[in-house]
Amino acid sequence: DVTGSQVADFSFEDPKYDLRITTSKIIDSNGSLLGFVKIIRDRTRELAILKSKSEFIEIAAHQLRTPLTGMLWGWETLTKENLTDDQMEIVKSGLEATKIAVETVNDLLDVAKIEEGKFDFQFEEIDLISFIGEILEEMADLAKQANVKLFFQKPEVKELKVVADKHKLSIAVSNLLTNAIKYNVANGQAIISITKIADQPFVQVSVKDTGIGIPSEDAKRLFTKFYRAENAVKAVTEGIGLGLYITKNIVKSHGGDIWVESELNRGSTFYFTLATDQRLIPSNTAPIVEEY
Ligand code: ADP
Repeated sequence: DVTGSQVADFSFEDPKYDLRITTSKIIDSNGSLLGFVKIIRDRTRELAILKSKSEFIEIAAHQLRTPLTGMLWGWETLTKENLTDDQMEIVKSGLEATKIAVETVNDLLDVAKIEEGKFDFQFEEIDLISFIGEILEEMADLAKQANVKLFFQKPEVKELKVVADKHKLSIAVSNLLTNAIKYNVANGQAIISITKIADQPFVQVSVKDTGIGIPSEDAKRLFTKFYRAENAVKAVTEGIGLGLYITKNIVKSHGGDIWVESELNRGSTFYFTLATDQRLIPSNTAPIVEEY
């Protein structure tokens, strides 16, 4: 039995070598420690392939974004014209489809940046309460269309300062809220709340919904790339399963953690923590190791 592995990465230049060293305990059948094993894996070629894959995605996504932005503008202009009901329906579905394509391209670009270590963060002190209030305002239309009621449970204090990259954190919070709306039921609810963790320099944000829930065997894999649970694929055909991967990377880069609790057909609650102390923010932004 080999348990409790620790992983460390090393690089050498000239000639280039990328090594991953895994150290594990060796435990015998009685549970006593027999010793340790170190495995050194040469990842030079693997990382070079990953880099060229990310570069390909980045260039393709960039090239797609320009024409898509033009299409988006075209559809939006048409919605302001005096059209017949049938024509307006076509324009609206064109607009929706283009919006989904733009979001997909943005997700692909973010993932390529994460994997190349180019997802740069600009930290500043922000008030989490007004920050989430603004995101909720932007989400109002989406919630209304889906017939889902949005609620904000604020903490007792007026302001709650955290250290964050505003743009990146808004991607993370919007992803969780969009999912809480998208994977909900008609007349459902989505509730976002903030609590200060007692005696610790962290706040906890939770996004709770009354939706389709997550099968327990899928819960761990949701945060990996392209993973979608079967019940979600059935309920909502659109989506490529990158949102939670991006969200987890953003939360981890803020020194926080993210997890989910869910009951199938009853609803899910996603939790994440954020540091209130700048010193808890990690200095490197290497992509998180995929956990299964
Ligand atoms: P996408 O929504 O594009 O599939 P995400 O990465 O945001 O990608 O989510 C990955 C998967 O996690 C979803 O396909 C779904 O299976 C599950 N999921 C995420 N949020 C929820 C939720 N609030 N309720 C139920 N399932 C969810």
